[in-house]
Amino acid sequence: MKVACLGAGQLGRMLALAGYPLGIELEFYDRTADTPGGQVGPILTGEFDDLNKLKKLARRADVVTFDWENVPVGSLTALKGLAPIYPQPAALAVAQDRLLEKKLFVQLGIPTPGFFAVESHDDLKAAITKIGLPGILKTRRMGYDGKGQYRLTKPSDVAKAWSALGGQPLIYEAFIHFSREVSLIAVRSQKAELAYYPLSENSHHDGILHSTCAPFKAPALQRKAERYLRMVLEHFRYVGVLTIEFFVADGQLVANEMAPRVHNSGHWTIEGAVTSQFENHLRAILGWPLGSTQARGYSAMLNFIGSLPDRQTLLTQPGVHLHDYGKREARPGRKLGHATLVADSSLARDRALKLLSRQLKSTKRQTRAR
Ligand code: AMP
Repeated sequence: MKVACLGAGQLGRMLALAGYPLGIELEFYDRTADTPGGQVGPILTGEFDDLNKLKKLARRADVVTFDWENVPVGSLTALKGLAPIYPQPAALAVAQDRLLEKKLFVQLGIPTPGFFAVESHDDLKAAITKIGLPGILKTRRMGYDGKGQYRLTKPSDVAKAWSALGGQPLIYEAFIHFSREVSLIAVRSQKAELAYYPLSENSHHDGILHSTCAPFKAPALQRKAERYLRMVLEHFRYVGVLTIEFFVADGQLVANEMAPRVHNSGHWTIEGAVTSQFENHLRAILGWPLGSTQARGYSAMLNFIGSLPDRQTLLTQPGVHLHDYGKREARPGRKLGHATLVADSSLARDRALKLLSRQLKSTKRQTRAR
């Protein structure tokens, strides 16, 4: 079985690694060959609007998928008829635009922060009059990991926010005073089989996911989140893994955004669930039966951003699994790898996570001191 994957980042790499034992081969497509995916599987290089190359790739694949959310939707739709494309390009089109995404949540009755589209400085002032302060001004497109966002807390921030982001389609949204952030990962197969992972609790630093603990056990929220995900999945007759990130405010879920792909907050499922999100995505898009999404214990995932820890020091802690994405260049804010640990209880998990975080901090200090 051959899956063509547009984008060869760490998500693609983990898809490929999940596919090998099942006899599934991924062929990647990206601008350059030395990518996390390209290091573990064949890769065709080209621009994302080079339809001839993309068609060549699709013709030799059983199914086309993507690991990158900014794949041009037009390039995907141009491949229709050559191979099935999952998740559906229509879902990707919505996820690429924060305004369409929020409108879909509203249409389906999924709570989301109050929002207004902003095209001009006057629109921004009008949106602030309606929604108030604090609020967040975000680019509608190409925003990720907290990029393309400006938080406004006082009237004098308006001019600064406009000069930082103005001149492109924007959205102004109400600031949610949340108690925690959670995400739900669901999977729907070609045969309309549905499965949900337990909720993950996520902690962000500077808009980037820092760590995830799962399962986050809150049965009422789990049921509600599953209902919301099901509505989106059925709306698109979606095939593959879908993630929605929520704020928890006053005990209620408020949807922030959706990702039509495997997700960073689901990396714990590799060691911490019976079937990983990566394997289930492949099973879903190939029309195979889904695997159990049950958690095996209590997991924590820690992202390595900007630098990787010393491998040997990290691995002195029993039960820690290291994932190095093979990126040659370390840059501030760049995700280079992650570690997962699985424990028998949430208490033991929290203790192990604390120990790991402390160990990482001290290795960082030592590295700096050298
Ligand atoms: P995003 O790129 O939309 O996922 O935003 C990155 C992070 O910024 C989120 O995980 C939140 O921590 C924070 N954030 C984004 N939007 C809001 C909001 N409307 N209210 C409060 N915090 C937000």
